[in-house]
Amino acid sequence: MSIEALARDNVRKLVPYLSARRLGGNGDVWLNANEYPTAVEFQLTAQTLNRYPECQPQQVIERYARYAGLTPDNVLVSRGADEGIELLIRAFCEPGQDAIMYCPPTYGMYSVSAETFGVECRVVPTLADWQLDIPAMAAQLDGVKVVYICSPNNPTGQLINPQDLRDLLELTRGKTLVVADEAYIEFCPQGTLTTWLSTYPHLVILRTLSKAFALAGLRCGFTLANPEVISLLLKVIAPYPLSTPVADIAAQALSEQGIAAMRQRVAEMTDNRQGLIEALQQTPCIEQVFASDTNYVLVKVTHASDVFKSLWDQGIILRDQSKQPSLQGCLRISIGTRTECQRLVAALQQQPGPQPTEKQ
Ligand SMILES: *Cc1c(COP(=O)(O)O)cnc(C)c1O
Repeated sequence: MSIEALARDNVRKLVPYLSARRLGGNGDVWLNANEYPTAVEFQLTAQTLNRYPECQPQQVIERYARYAGLTPDNVLVSRGADEGIELLIRAFCEPGQDAIMYCPPTYGMYSVSAETFGVECRVVPTLADWQLDIPAMAAQLDGVKVVYICSPNNPTGQLINPQDLRDLLELTRGKTLVVADEAYIEFCPQGTLTTWLSTYPHLVILRTLSKAFALAGLRCGFTLANPEVISLLLKVIAPYPLSTPVADIAAQALSEQGIAAMRQRVAEMTDNRQGLIEALQQTPCIEQVFASDTNYVLVKVTHASDVFKSLWDQGIILRDQSKQPSLQGCLRISIGTRTECQRLVAALQQQPGPQPTEKQ
């Protein structure tokens, strides 16, 4: 018997998540993973590495609760928001019986996590404007335990309409968890659903230190929910999900000073984004620049795969979104430093625009 044949059926069929890192590339301008473009410095202060860490480091939980305007019993910390996505499936979905729902184009980890655990994916594409198709979702909610909604959505870049989220929360009350993935909410803080937690016991919010907090390499994320949900997740989380150095640095990032520095970075990135959008609108190969509430912009490009390849060969690495439903010809560009944005625009300016015969 081959080792391959020993593996679970769904694992053999699984296509692993193609992260920006796994896709590789030999770049010096990395605009493909929505990271902050430069490193923020930290000192390690906790030296007791002979001891196991706390499962839920108290200072990190207290500081995140204060930052989010919630109480510590609303907060779970984990190895990135990605672990939060997975814990929800492990705690709420019976393999081979229950389903999750998501609405593409969106973030890829919801389906990868579900497939890993043998949980069905109910896929309901968004409308043409990338907002939720509430009637289609309502028609397919049977057996769905968790709905993942990314807001602002990756890779399209816009917030989901609050009224649609209200409608969804009413439809699902008592039956289904609604998970709002707010990985980019620091770039549009007015869009958060944290104040809705007191109204909806089945609402869950995902957060991360990987984007606006500039700590993708730290692997630290948060699940915000009512205490009943948090208690269930604590049953399935690993005994030591965060190492001592991670908790140490996370606590520093969530100090008053750390949060002020984050807001400074958000202002700077928003500024760079505006500059980049204006330059892209003057670039022949760019057909459309979509509005963004985040640290990336989605663009529709003439001959997108050629442009992607040409930039890749010049060391400028973007994320090709052409394979996602309704995103043919679309590339996602993370906002880099001002210099990186300028290098990108210069390279794009060299690309041909649509030929006269190609114009509608
Ligand atoms: C980056 C990202 C995550 C993952 O966050 P980590 O904390 O790095 O695991 C989750 N959801 C979305 C939409 C993201 O873009």
